[in-house]
Amino acid sequence: MNDSTPFLPVIASRDLDIYNADRRATVPAVAGIAATTPALNPRALDVLDQIENAKRNVPAKVGAFLDHLGSLISEHRDADAVLDFALNALAKAPTECPVHSWCKETGDHHDHSGRTTWAACEDAYGNPVLSAGLIDWGQGVKVGLLDLDLTPGEARGKLAELRTHLDRIEQLISLAEQGATNSATGAEAGR
Ligand SMILES: [Zn+2]
Repeated sequence: MNDSTPFLPVIASRDLDIYNADRRATVPAVAGIAATTPALNPRALDVLDQIENAKRNVPAKVGAFLDHLGSLISEHRDADAVLDFALNALAKAPTECPVHSWCKETGDHHDHSGRTTWAACEDAYGNPVLSAGLIDWGQGVKVGLLDLDLTPGEARGKLAELRTHLDRIEQLISLAEQGATNSATGAEAGR
């Protein structure tokens, strides 16, 4: 206590200087704070922009990874280590599948998948309807449909059943239309 007493006025003076905007750059404590939170530099902004664009065309898992990367860059501002890591990852990402032209997987992989398609309409919960795609888990190219891995022949069989089912749905629609016409002159005319 006795030893530190002579320095107290000096410490108090520096603390007060922190609140003096014109002298902030001359106060070591404030300069230290500024060094840990620099503004996003153009290179960091460019990488964040690339990440936003890349997220639109990649699987959800890759998008989540890119999101994490963006958070790191935003958190560390223009930290070179983070940027180098991001640029290396982006440079490696576009390597195409050497086995199947339809495969959307990139880099070193063994499970191939791609060309996923689904009905234009969604169900009531926003989920895709009747999604289908090509897959190859190492036993030849299969068609992924109804959560099944089907051979082309099996897929054609399912498709025939689905077409029959769609015809039945159309019959239901016709019945409903007849019901609407009948009720137009009945008790439910106002509905
Ligand atoms: Zn592949």
